Amino acid sequence: RLTQESPLYGLLSMATQFYQQSLKQHPARQAAVDYLKKRGISPQMVQAFALGFAPPGWDNLHKLVQADQAKQQSLIEAGLLVHNEGSGKRYDRFRDRLMFPIRDHSGRVIGFGGRVLGDDKPKYLNSPETALFHKSHELYGLYELRQKPGKLDEILVVEGYLDVIALAQAGLCNAVATLGTATSEQHIKRLLRLAPSILFCFDGDSAGRKAAWRALEAALPALFDGKRTRFLFLPDGEDPDSLVRLEGADAFRARIEEQSLSLTDYFFSRLQQEVNLSSLEGKAQLVNLALPLLQKIPSASLQVLMRQRLAQLSGLALEQLNQLAQPNLPAK
Ligand code: ATP
Ligand code: MN
Ligand code: MN
Ligand code: MN
Repeated sequence: RLTQESPLYGLLSMATQFYQQSLKQHPARQAAVDYLKKRGISPQMVQAFALGFAPPGWDNLHKLVQADQAKQQSLIEAGLLVHNEGSGKRYDRFRDRLMFPIRDHSGRVIGFGGRVLGDDKPKYLNSPETALFHKSHELYGLYELRQKPGKLDEILVVEGYLDVIALAQAGLCNAVATLGTATSEQHIKRLLRLAPSILFCFDGDSAGRKAAWRALEAALPALFDGKRTRFLFLPDGEDPDSLVRLEGADAFRARIEEQSLSLTDYFFSRLQQEVNLSSLEGKAQLVNLALPLLQKIPSASLQVLMRQRLAQLSGLALEQLNQLAQPNLPAK
């Protein structure tokens, strides 16, 4: 088990400060400053999210620890230096990128996302999994969100760093992002301990729609009584960042209130798109798709209500449906 004393924390903190400092005074900083301006990110957000700049060059961090072998080794373990097995060379992972520190619950930096300043590939580079950084557990923006006083009614889950930041800048300070991975059951359970509701708001593209269904599947085992999740689907080609800049915070809030779908509505409308309910085969298929998913829901009342809806849609009597759901079928 890792403790406070892990040397990685200190090096990650040193790197954060180096990147922040580079954004303020490195000779190559102008490209990053221009990029922030182009994306409309305010100095307050740069401060609040501790954004930085990894300057061009292969050995900026390397130079900071010089020949200290133990520190070099820790930088590798922290994901900041890459060790090339073939050549034996060590070089900085993040170069010429806008840097987004990822903090844990107590505010310590555990990893980074880095964005290119133009159209190069890959657009984002994230820290690898390390002893401190576990993507299926951490959420970008969660520490920052928890710094705000007051009761949290709902947490928004979005895809990108800049979605979180643009929403916060517009006054919607309750968004977090997954770190280039699918939303996990762990993520959801973590968030539902902090707020009674989650709103998933992914990009209006096929990746975003796919991510929404995966989030629904991950949410089912977390639906205890009193907890809910909803889904907001954005117009094609938009993401929360582009949309909140386009139409403003009030319109975005109105969109949430008017257009978000409950998990139940999304669940059934999506499954109905997949089957042909005018045939018996289609109705059977609906039952076969829906039942194993419904059985994952811990809230008994929600599960019964959803079974009733499934009975209506399929034309099966509820008792028949319940018999099909008997536990001698292996649980998924
Ligand atoms: P931007 O607005 O800066 O162009 P975005 O956040 O809208 O970026 P998307 O292409 O919608 O980016 O991707 C959503 C998220 O997926 C990103 O924020 C990032 O976390 C992750 N991601 C995107 N491209 C990559 C990549 N090439 N490698 C790793 N993660 C990526
Ligand atoms: Mn996208
Ligand atoms: Mn996007
Ligand atoms: Mn975007």
